[in-house]
Amino acid sequence: MAEQEASGLQVLLSTLQSSCDKDVILNILSVLTDLLSLGTGRRIHYVVSKGGSEALLQALATAARTEPPEHGPLLPLLRLLARVGQRDRKFGLKVQKAEATDIILSLTRRHLGHHLHLTHCLWVLRVCASNVTTGTMLGINGAMELLFKVITPYSKRHVRTVRAAIGALAALLKSKSNSRRAVNRGYLGELLRLYQDWHRNDVSNNYIYIRRGLLLCLKYITNIQLGRETFLGSRGMEILFTSVQDCLSCKNLDPIITTAIHILRKCYPKEHLPVVTVRSSYSFPLPGNASAEPPCEGSEGKWLKDDSESEGEEEAEKDWDNEDVESKEEDCDLETDVNKLRSMPVLDRPEQELEKYEALCAELFQNFQELEFESEEKKSLEDRTESLPSAPSHFIPSDTSVKHPNCRWRNQSVTEMGPDPGEQDFKVPLQSWRKKEECIWDKNDENRDIAEKTQDKDFCEEEDPARSHVFALCSLLKDAAWYKKVFYPHCKALIDPGPEGRLESSDIVRNLLEKHRGDIPFHSPCFYAARARCVKSIPGYRELAFPDFWGHQPPPYSKPVLERKHGVQSFLFPRDKVLDDVRRLIQPGDVIGRTVFDLDDPSSLSSPAAPGCLTFFSQFESGNLRKAIQVREFEYDLILNADVNSSQHHQWFYFEVRDMESAVPYRFNIINCEKLNSQFNYGMQLVMYSVREALQGRPRWTRAGQEICYYKNHYCCRSAAAGGGVRGRFYYTLTFSIKFPHKDDVCYLAYHYPYTYSTMMSHLDILEQNRNPKKVYWRQQALCQTLGGNPCPLLTITAMPESKNRDDLEQFCSRPYVFLTARVHPGESNASWVMKGTLEFLVSCDPIAELLRKCFIFKIVPMLNPDGVINGNLRCSLSGDDLNRQWLTPSSQLHPTIYHAKGLLYYLRSIGRAPLVFCDYHGHSQKKNVFLYGCSIKETLWQAGCMVDTAVVTEDVGYRTLPKILDKVAPAFVMNSCSFLVEKSRASTARVVVWKEMGVLRSYTMESTYCSCSHGLYRGLQLGTQELEEMGSKFCLGLLILHLKSLPCSKELMAQAALLLDLEEEITDRAQRRCSNSSLESDDEPPCAEEIDYDTASSSDGEEEFLELDQEIQECLSCVEGETEDEGVTTGQTCSSRALRELYISSQPAPNSTALPLGSSALGLCHGFESSPV
Ligand SMILES: [Zn+2]
Repeated sequence: MAEQEASGLQVLLSTLQSSCDKDVILNILSVLTDLLSLGTGRRIHYVVSKGGSEALLQALATAARTEPPEHGPLLPLLRLLARVGQRDRKFGLKVQKAEATDIILSLTRRHLGHHLHLTHCLWVLRVCASNVTTGTMLGINGAMELLFKVITPYSKRHVRTVRAAIGALAALLKSKSNSRRAVNRGYLGELLRLYQDWHRNDVSNNYIYIRRGLLLCLKYITNIQLGRETFLGSRGMEILFTSVQDCLSCKNLDPIITTAIHILRKCYPKEHLPVVTVRSSYSFPLPGNASAEPPCEGSEGKWLKDDSESEGEEEAEKDWDNEDVESKEEDCDLETDVNKLRSMPVLDRPEQELEKYEALCAELFQNFQELEFESEEKKSLEDRTESLPSAPSHFIPSDTSVKHPNCRWRNQSVTEMGPDPGEQDFKVPLQSWRKKEECIWDKNDENRDIAEKTQDKDFCEEEDPARSHVFALCSLLKDAAWYKKVFYPHCKALIDPGPEGRLESSDIVRNLLEKHRGDIPFHSPCFYAARARCVKSIPGYRELAFPDFWGHQPPPYSKPVLERKHGVQSFLFPRDKVLDDVRRLIQPGDVIGRTVFDLDDPSSLSSPAAPGCLTFFSQFESGNLRKAIQVREFEYDLILNADVNSSQHHQWFYFEVRDMESAVPYRFNIINCEKLNSQFNYGMQLVMYSVREALQGRPRWTRAGQEICYYKNHYCCRSAAAGGGVRGRFYYTLTFSIKFPHKDDVCYLAYHYPYTYSTMMSHLDILEQNRNPKKVYWRQQALCQTLGGNPCPLLTITAMPESKNRDDLEQFCSRPYVFLTARVHPGESNASWVMKGTLEFLVSCDPIAELLRKCFIFKIVPMLNPDGVINGNLRCSLSGDDLNRQWLTPSSQLHPTIYHAKGLLYYLRSIGRAPLVFCDYHGHSQKKNVFLYGCSIKETLWQAGCMVDTAVVTEDVGYRTLPKILDKVAPAFVMNSCSFLVEKSRASTARVVVWKEMGVLRSYTMESTYCSCSHGLYRGLQLGTQELEEMGSKFCLGLLILHLKSLPCSKELMAQAALLLDLEEEITDRAQRRCSNSSLESDDEPPCAEEIDYDTASSSDGEEEFLELDQEIQECLSCVEGETEDEGVTTGQTCSSRALRELYISSQPAPNSTALPLGSSALGLCHGFESSPV
């Protein structure tokens, strides 16, 4: 039946092509019009598939050839062509084949005076031009000249025709050669003038579509370099900018504003960053002959000439966060060579070299005979206590310090101290600190008295807690570096009494420290200062950042992600921000342009700040501000320093700002970000720390910043080297505004919760001192020295043997290993917070931790890239290399931490003790949730569409167990986000190398979001340090369950575990139940504005455009129907509107339809459409 009906349509179409009978043709056109007027795209596609376009084109050719031209069928024919043609992808080709371009052009010319016919011709012209080749041909044959005759000069007569002509012109200008031709003929200026005329005269906004049509013409014409230059030369920026200002208040002008801003962004003259060189301000001479990234600045073409057609913007930009970001061509990147996927134990160094790693596994050879489990410990405890500095040790967590349902291990006070069964390597800094401590803290009793008296005199009547800190704050205001200087004995401020009779900084600090409530678990300012003093940095830091020194306490509640505002202030389209940027160009007089901080110009750092101007600083651990420029009174452009020995990698930031007003929104623009998109576009906020708040008892990093947008800006890389091989690569702006909580405060802003090397080292000190040595075997050694000369700590944590008897000692030695690493990427501070959670859990008194320690020996490298973290890098080490791309063949000289971590793993494998689990902790800047990347041969081959011979390729699916467990026990973890594919581009990452070369089945990268979760308990909440730390502890719990599930266990262990885990489950369940709305909703982020706006190659308007033209045609028809004015009269045509209606719109077949045997099948045809497969 359907077949029959389909053939009915074919008969109809072939008759249309061959018939010369005017009435027959009219009838067929009428039937087709009826058919297509009902349905939507599907029907049209069906007609297209049956050769509709060809038939219509043929009929057009016939009608045009007839002399005198056959006017009757012309209009319905053109309408059908326009509607069918725009949905026929090959329409352009068919037009060329039918040699119809000339026909359409000459028809258009012929009807210049007859607006209804002309409008119809223009629709078809527009549809033809949407094919670039056809459009180019039309352009060559003078189509644009023709159209300009129609649209100029400005006139409100025949607006429908003008609208159609502008639509056709815009379509033609999609062809670059047409655009070039248009510019050369001066049409760009004319378009601008015309746009201004329409803008000025369309006071009541009746002709938005015409104004937008003109903007579309400008949008396409400025896709070419010549277009952009001419646009600038014709004052296009000023004209559009001014016109947009008039439109901003009117909501239905959005289409105009959006298009105009798109053009403004595109044409904004490209500039290089306002820095002398994009290479890092810091360089480090590498050992041997190794050279870092060549310091090539490349040619500095002022306009990036090779960026001719703006493809430069669209270059597949290399993704710098490779391990973290799924590439779009992920499937092409999959490793499909089975041999390369198979575990292949290889050695990248001489075997005898492995012996030296025995020293890093002393637990296997430890003779516990000398251990006196009870008595000696007490003695040592006393020793230790005596040797401890008298400085307050506030770090011992108390029951009240942390309240979190899922952190019960935290609530346990760990107070037992004891001997250190491990080595003393790391005692050096601590001891040196103690010595200095004596002079700073202890001998100053008299000084303290003086200080106290001074304080009393001035403030003792004050009971107001806020006022009681005035002393500290006053000093803080006077002396910028009061608390920093004091920690550095070589600083003069320590000895000399300050100018203006100030108190000595040491007193200030001591005074401050007495205010330190000590309610920050596992943190001690004194330990921090001691560690920081030993750090070796490239710039030779002499100062501390207050938050790292003072400590951070998780806020009592989690903050939801910022709501995405649509409309005027849209995240997806930062129009206000872009207009502000453009204003700099249009009104340069308003721009202050004062450099207030410049790492490359030391004099700028010491000179006093101008009044009414913020003071910036970032020369402390992990700080990386390079330059700050005041743009307007409350707006600053900021430039981040590149990674050491590199000219790229900007995303992480950490800096100090002071001398602010309160309650004024300051806007900051970080103008040299590099990632293509950011969670900042999806509700993520940065973090801020206020010193005043800290001194008032709220020492914490909090999520801050409003009006946050991340978008591509007009700054471009000056060289291919800086652009990662892609010249003309653009930078991105992260803009945000901040209202500081207090006037004249000292605040810190960062990309994410900072966690410095000294923070980690002092944390380890505290953990070591606070563990229970009877139960916790803890050993801290240096895995190696880094290039920068800092020790990279390696921890061994397990349970002490139960007793000295042989069985217990054997059990101790035979525990499987778990190998954990973190922070190979310095900008991923979230990884360190997760690691902090893991470490604190592992040494805690939690019964689960005790059990876990009995199950495993943990080898942990908590910071694989200390130098990078210290010097404020985002991605690399001092060698300028991404260390997580060096695992295949690490260099002992250039990548010592990777070389030795791998060496230790080799050693473990060589003695048959390859770890059961390997996991490298990372942070993921573009995704939500916490999840694992693992390795699977089969999943990779399946994903790549390869045949998998299950007889040859066998695989243990055990790699899925741990993530499945974590999905259950860790609220932030989401199994659905995990992936087990092996990509070629990741062949040299820790995860893949450890899996392949060490044969570790459970080898993972753990990625933690910077932003929030899409599922579960934390859905819609921005993760804080508490949630990250919790993830670290839950990871441990996951390991215990994995052990129970996967390894043979003693009955005793099983029983103990069962009891504990039941409890744990109850807690987890309760927590999860509280969040019962955690449905499995997983909508992906919409694409960001960049992906849409800059896509100039293809028409992104898609279906919308079809609808527009359809609507245009429909509007025109209904007006013609109702219109009393007969346009035809003007040119002597006799076609009345009544006739039109009768001939083309009436659904009744014409009286002489008998010529067609289709009376009934016309109806059947309609039904056939609905049932036929399309
Ligand atoms: Zn990473």
